[in-house]
Amino acid sequence: MADAERPPIDKPCGEGIMPDGLAAARALGIDLDAAPGLRFPGIRFWEGATSVEARFARGPGLGIRRTALHQALIDHAEQAGVRLAWGTAVTGIDGERVHAAGERVAAHWIVGADGGHSRVRRWAGLDACTRQSLRYGFCRHYRTAPWTGLMEIHWGDRCQLYITPVAEDEVCVVLISSDPHLRLGEGLAQFPAVERRVGNLAALPGERGAVSASRRLRAVWRGNVALVGDASGSVDAITGEGLCLLFQHAAALAAALERGDISLYESEHRRVGRRPGLMADLMLLLDRSERLRRGVIGAMAWHPPLFAGMLAYHTGAAI
Ligand SMILES: Cc1cc2nc3c(=O)[nH]c(=O)nc-3n(C[C@H](O)[C@H](O)[C@H](O)COP(=O)(O)OP(=O)(O)OC[C@H]3O[C@@H](n4cnc5c(N)ncnc54)[C@H](O)[C@@H]3O)c2cc1C
Repeated sequence: MADAERPPIDKPCGEGIMPDGLAAARALGIDLDAAPGLRFPGIRFWEGATSVEARFARGPGLGIRRTALHQALIDHAEQAGVRLAWGTAVTGIDGERVHAAGERVAAHWIVGADGGHSRVRRWAGLDACTRQSLRYGFCRHYRTAPWTGLMEIHWGDRCQLYITPVAEDEVCVVLISSDPHLRLGEGLAQFPAVERRVGNLAALPGERGAVSASRRLRAVWRGNVALVGDASGSVDAITGEGLCLLFQHAAALAAALERGDISLYESEHRRVGRRPGLMADLMLLLDRSERLRRGVIGAMAWHPPLFAGMLAYHTGAAI
């Protein structure tokens, strides 16, 4: 495994792992039960003064700093005997060779897990998309006791603010929108209830921005190269399903390689992406239409089992 960065690797992220993501990690042998972070038992939506909340059907999600998650993944990889090369940028691939740190390393299989801007994807000729749209996320951390035990999504005018409690004294706040110029400080004004909580606090160092891509590729493997995680396509960040998909891709690819048939990976990749893709479409529809959003969130607030049903579907507990 080669990564251009060095641990602990941080990344702009909402830092919420849904219960299906925790289950997917567990299926890989990564038990995040002991990892530092805060469990959140469900989700709350806010639209103006209207709110609706529901608990997850199968145990809590986990709010966890990316640096802590990264350490847990490193520990697991080391225990599994993976050789980890940090600060090692991969600069090219050819056939069964990977170019890194001035060397050509022999590799029977090459797995591109190099994120949304994947170069491995380009080198392997897998950039062709059946769909692609971009939004922009900006993340800040605040040193404050979480005022909510749930993960909260506040819906605004063509943007959302989501809040994840990640420690007893820290929350992660993300603003996401289609406007690359809308920064968190400015966007916060749309959400007075949150602004009252954090507006006077100094954000912890390290505000970061990132592109949240909705991207579906025509193919996720070619020859001896396969893509996993964001490199292989992604759903909008508002779903909180990116990490779950990454773990599911890893398990699906390992199973396909074990059976000696990499083509099995393609169909499994499509299958696991279907539900998050559908939920992302629904959420982006709510983002685009204020009228629809008010109607849907109002209806769910009036009849909360609707929201509980949607959340159960979202996290794979209803199928
Ligand atoms: C604003 C925002 C909020 C989000 N919130 C959530 C959330 O709450 N919950 C959730 O589950 N998901 C969330 N996501 C999605 C989640 O962050 C991603 O799905 C996840 O990080 C994908 O992991 P990855 O390993 O595929 O890619 P990355 O995390 O991008 O990792 C790629 C790695 O590849 C390395 N790399 C890249 N190029 C090279 C190279 N040439 N050589 C060597 N190494 C290289 C990088 O250094 C990096 O370490 C969010 C995304 C955004 C943008």
